[in-house]
Amino acid sequence: MATDYDVIIIGGGPTGLAAAVYTGRSLLRTLVLEKQTVGGQIALSAAIDNYPGFADGISGYEFAEAFLKHAQRFGAEVRIGTGAASVARNDDGTFTVGLSDETSVTAKTVILAMGRHPRRLEVPGYDKLFGKGVSVCATCDGAFFRNVPVAVVGGGNSAVEEGHFLTRYASEINSIHRRDHFTAQKILIEEYLHDPKVKPVWNSVVEEIYGENEVDGIRIRNLTTDKTEDLPAKAVFVFIGWIPNSAMVKHLVRTDDEGRVIVNELMETGVPGLFAAGDLCVRPIYQLANVVADGVQAAVSVERYLEIKKHHDPNHGY
Ligand code: NAP
Repeated sequence: MATDYDVIIIGGGPTGLAAAVYTGRSLLRTLVLEKQTVGGQIALSAAIDNYPGFADGISGYEFAEAFLKHAQRFGAEVRIGTGAASVARNDDGTFTVGLSDETSVTAKTVILAMGRHPRRLEVPGYDKLFGKGVSVCATCDGAFFRNVPVAVVGGGNSAVEEGHFLTRYASEINSIHRRDHFTAQKILIEEYLHDPKVKPVWNSVVEEIYGENEVDGIRIRNLTTDKTEDLPAKAVFVFIGWIPNSAMVKHLVRTDDEGRVIVNELMETGVPGLFAAGDLCVRPIYQLANVVADGVQAAVSVERYLEIKKHHDPNHGY
């Protein structure tokens, strides 16, 4: 069947936009669907300091804008505010993508680049006070909590990096982690622990976030002594990992125990014409540079797939 696009890229984060730069440059009719913010999670980052070539760092917002412009320059159509609601493979091997506005579009290939969302802390008070002091984004909400104590939960790169950002505003930061050390990159840990506002609280978990219409404090439990303690906090910033946004495609692709899409090194899912890339997938590391590279690989694989199809099946509209 004649399709609307050669490729539909679901997700307008760095992976999806990198793919769009490449498919656009290859003159493939490209649609990028981004349900919320162009740039995805990275657009919320205060400063990107480890993307090679940006020696002085760059804000996540500026980075995302530059990526968008680049993809558009090569002809990609980027629909912001329109998400994909469903993906179906048609009998002739093309794809129909149902959209959040209840219309649908078709394409010869699809690249899944939906990324992942932050894991919730399963404790009383988290849901009730989310957006009222409970947050998963220091760049978005940190400035609301000037000169007051806050808590940070988690010990990976996100917790330490975002916690460091919060030292600009908060009077003190109780940084709660269930281990006796952070697992973030050494340079990030050094900068973080060097700040006198930061008080690491090791071997501890949050048991409750309390307050009525705003956060008034947290109760923590020390895993070594089993003792509980109340700590002052007007905000709780939670960075305890991620859940892949794979629910929509679980019927089509293979996923691991955590729901991450399984791909090979060519970003193939095993379903002809369906590729996946970036944070959504099982990857050896989750750094900006390699999820961008994933997008590039997926785009090149799309191009090769379409070439082979055209060669073997010239009457098929490919
Ligand atoms: P992460 O590396 O998965 O770390 C999650 C943290 O949360 C760990 O400290 C984990 O503790 C803790 N945790 C998980 N579940 C918990 C629970 N239920 N209660 C309390 N603590 C819990 O996640 P991330 O820090 O968001 O990083 C994700 C990926 O993005 C990583 O690959 C990271 O390198 C990358 N990243 C890179 C940068 C950068 O390069 N600047 C910045 C941000 C993220 P345990 O260790 O005990 O499991």
